[in-house]
Order: sequence, then structure tokens, then C-alpha cells
Amino acid sequence: MPESGLRQRLEENVRAVRQRMELACQRAQRPVSAVRLVAVTKYAQPAWMRELFSLGELDWGENRPQQLASRAGEFPETVRWHLIGTLQRNKAQLAARHAAVVHSVDSVRLLETLEKQAATCQRTLPVLLEVNISGEAQKHGFTPAELLAVAGAAPATPHLSIEGLMTMAPHSDLPEESRGVFRGLRELRDRLREQVPAWPLRDLSMGMSGDFEVAIEEGATLVRVGSALWEGLEALSPHSLNK
Ligand SMILES: *Cc1c(COP(=O)(O)O)cnc(C)c1O
Repeated sequence: MPESGLRQRLEENVRAVRQRMELACQRAQRPVSAVRLVAVTKYAQPAWMRELFSLGELDWGENRPQQLASRAGEFPETVRWHLIGTLQRNKAQLAARHAAVVHSVDSVRLLETLEKQAATCQRTLPVLLEVNISGEAQKHGFTPAELLAVAGAAPATPHLSIEGLMTMAPHSDLPEESRGVFRGLRELRDRLREQVPAWPLRDLSMGMSGDFEVAIEEGATLVRVGSALWEGLEALSPHSLNK
């Protein structure tokens, strides 16, 4: 039966990812509970997501606020939705209403807009500040220098909790090549912590399918994993056209 084949393959993928996470935690002498798996669902079919839900994986990442909002309405409220993609200020309201965490705050103006929207929703919204550690021109995020400057003069954001930092490493087939970027994010977090004691800065969101082990070794608390979870599922999904 195609459905059970799908479930079995997904279960294997999840187990493999969890095992890679555990081994990385062991190498880094960190407890397994220190790292959360955010399953990136941006390319996942709803049928795959229903299986993932039944496997008990409840942290899900979406890139687009519209898709996050519409999918949040289709799945149980126990799912924690992480917005990981670029957020335009005119979509901040969707994020403030539906996201459990926003990983991609890349400007002071966005921080201010999210503060207003979170206040309107009468909630405290956890956010991460996105940092462009690698310095690539096409990447979003604060530069480290900007962030250190901003931190000294940050607007009051009583409805936001600045939980940490997020970064994307440059694309590479060699996971080791991401290590410097991940270490840079951790060191920046450590400096910011001294500078702004009001910001909790517990989280480091870094590492994707190809390099999350290296990220864990460098202190990641949230790894954003998509393709490694969905490998092989397309071939087992005969109804992919009418998702
Ligand atoms: C798509 C995406 C991921 C997941 O990437 P994979 O290589 O599929 O694991 C992680 N973070 C962000 C911001 C993404 O857009």
C-alpha cells in the first residue's frame, strides 16, 4: 500500500536525522535535549506532514508567511510554526498571529513592526535576529557590526522576546566549510549577551540538511532540516498532483 510505504520511508528518514543529531551531540558533549529539530515543510506535501505529525515531530518551519498562516489553520494547534524565510513588513501581522517563533528578523524597522503587531495580538512573540556572518551580498540579515551597534540602541520591544540569532551558511557540498560561519554566530551571541542582558539569546538557529552536525558541534540549539526528511517520498506519492 502506498500510504504505509510513505510512512515507513518518512519514519526511516526521521530516525536517520535524529541519529545524526544524537551523534553530533555526543561528539560535542551536549545533551540531546539541547537541540531542537525544526522540520522545514516548505516543499512538503500535506500528506507527508500528516505522517510527520503522527510521528510526534511538532516544530515545523515555513519560509513564506502566507503559507505558514494557511497551513497553521489546517493542522492541530500543537504544531509550533517557525517562520524561517524573509519577512516583509507588510506580512508582519501574519507572522505575529500564527508563528511560534520568527527566525528571520533582519532590520530594526521589522523589529518595530513586529513589536506593534505582537502588541495588537496581546502576546509576547519570540524572535531571532538573522545575521549575515558570511558577508555574501545576496544574503539577508544584520552584519555583525550592525548588530553590535543596534544592540546598544535597540528600541524597547516589550512584546518581543529576543531569543537568539539565526544564520545561513553559504551553499557548499562540504559541511566543514560552514564551521567558521557557525562559530562566528556563536561568538557574536556571546558578545551580545554581555552587551544586552535584557535579551535572553538562548538560541542559535543554524544548520540545514547538509551541515547540521557541524552546527550542533558549534552550539546550534535549533537545526532547520528539510530535504533530509523528505528524501524518497515524492516517488511514493502517487497523488502528488492533487495535493
Ligand atoms: C529550505 C530552508 C532550510 C532547509 O534546507 P534543507 O537543505 O532542505 O534542509 C533551512 N533554512 C532555511 C532558511 C530554508 O529556507
